[in-house]
Amino acid sequence: MKILIIGAGPAGLTAAYELLAKNNNDHEVIILEESSYMGGICKTVIHNGNYLDLGGHRFFTRVQEVSNWWQNIMPSQGALPYDYKTLGREAVITPGGPDPEKTDRVMLLRNTLSRILFKRKFFDYPVSLRLSTLRNMGFITSITAGFSYIKSLIFRRKENSLEDFYINRFGKKLYSMFFENYTQNLWGRHPSEISPEWGSQRIKGLSIAAIIRDLFHSDSKRSEPSLSNNFAYPKLGPGQLWEITAQEIIKLGGRIITGAKVIALNKSGDVITGLEYVKDNQTVTLTGDIIISSMPLKDLIAGLNDVPERIKFIASGLPYRDYMIAGILIKSLALKNETRIRTLGGIVPDNWIYVHDKSVKMGRIQVFNNWSPYMVNDVEHTVWLGLEYFCNEGDSFWSMSDSEFAELAVNEMLKLGLIKSLDDVLDSHVERVRKAYPAYFDTYEHIDELREFLDSINNLYCVGRNGQHRYNNIDHSMCTAFEAVKNILSGTQDKSNIWNVNTDKEYNESR
Ligand SMILES: Cc1cc2nc3c(=O)[nH]c(=O)nc-3n(C[C@H](O)[C@H](O)[C@H](O)COP(=O)(O)OP(=O)(O)OC[C@H]3O[C@@H](n4cnc5c(N)ncnc54)[C@H](O)[C@@H]3O)c2cc1C
Repeated sequence: MKILIIGAGPAGLTAAYELLAKNNNDHEVIILEESSYMGGICKTVIHNGNYLDLGGHRFFTRVQEVSNWWQNIMPSQGALPYDYKTLGREAVITPGGPDPEKTDRVMLLRNTLSRILFKRKFFDYPVSLRLSTLRNMGFITSITAGFSYIKSLIFRRKENSLEDFYINRFGKKLYSMFFENYTQNLWGRHPSEISPEWGSQRIKGLSIAAIIRDLFHSDSKRSEPSLSNNFAYPKLGPGQLWEITAQEIIKLGGRIITGAKVIALNKSGDVITGLEYVKDNQTVTLTGDIIISSMPLKDLIAGLNDVPERIKFIASGLPYRDYMIAGILIKSLALKNETRIRTLGGIVPDNWIYVHDKSVKMGRIQVFNNWSPYMVNDVEHTVWLGLEYFCNEGDSFWSMSDSEFAELAVNEMLKLGLIKSLDDVLDSHVERVRKAYPAYFDTYEHIDELREFLDSINNLYCVGRNGQHRYNNIDHSMCTAFEAVKNILSGTQDKSNIWNVNTDKEYNESR
């Protein structure tokens, strides 16, 4: 069988690897990838010796099959990485594992720390009830937040929107401090326009009541931010894992055609007989027996022939949120490390920082020095940041030139007190990511009809994040590929197992 896979992101590459590794090369496997990178949204871009992760991708999963897979491609550290070794910090070591100081093919194990920056002060993420929280909020704000919470308990709102959902759980004051602006920034819509369903999926179990319960839990009496959570991270950023996977796929006999944008799929009855892609301005037709697609559902349907009008309407109305990140290299960070966690250069220990300040458009700050010291060319004397912005393709942010956008980001850094002057900035690089977030608005409510239509095409398997229009993380995206391959190899027609990945509404991150 000839199997055509659209997209060399985590889902497409996982599917190809699984097919080739599990089937002794019985199948011809071809991946078509529009860009020149491996890893899709999860790629790593190298700029003047500094590695930019588009987002900050934690490798974290509860699925054993996924952790085994990662371990097979990139074994876990067998010795401490440079920073932990220099600073005397502890981390889990896998006996016999590779030494990050000697080899690149190694998965680091990092402590997670992320906080909220609001009015130049740090708050725990998620918000917790510690003395420092109340001190940072100030007496008046703390009292107002307390009364506003009590009011929300007495006057319960009917939950018609995400705004109602948050206010019922936190009160209006805390909602306006910690949720309203960030949500509006992320989705480009006010929480009053977003379904409450989103809240139950993303912040299940989080409320003031839960925070108060947490206060009496011994771990919350700590005076330092928690470092109890770990995540895995490839030494040179997430794209490294996918570059290695691509090399393994080629070794196993697979083909990866880069710079190949799939523009049409030829449907005949209930099967797809092949597809068309454009490479170097030439249109190429390829026949295939099976199609695994991780391209956005909106584009997939637009490229298919013989689609009912209703299905076209649903697919064309699916919304997305796009994303821009400015990699900014600075001499030093003006934020003070007031924790007891030791870092190279004494910088704040956070992996990423949520920005809740209404005076800026910045959504998050990635501190790549703390993700992997090997991602920064001069980790002792410079700080490599990723300033994240949520936007829509074609809007005023998206249309800026790279230098205009970097200038805007740097000005916001000044406003937030991240740097003292423009002289601190050494270098910058801008990346744009289309369809970074599949959104659950507009025609999304009819997605089941779209799914039913797609399932009626016998040899088509939709996998991944945009491939299913679901907020799938790396592990979920990989699991959809595992399930698709299982079905292909066993000849199972029912595709519900592929769609059922990540539907339990429990967000895979802790709390
Ligand atoms: C800011 C941000 C932070 C994130 N952080 C995390 C995290 O910490 N942990 C985590 O687990 N997940 C995280 N994710 C999610 C993770 O990035 C995705 O789950 C994962 O990349 C999805 O893999 P995929 O293969 O489905 O899709 P993608 O990564 O989008 O890959 C799809 C590929 O298909 C290609 N393609 C699309 N259309 C065509 C076409 N017509 N022809 C040919 N090729 C095409 C694209 O170029 C791309 O390479 C984050 C996402 C974002 C946006």
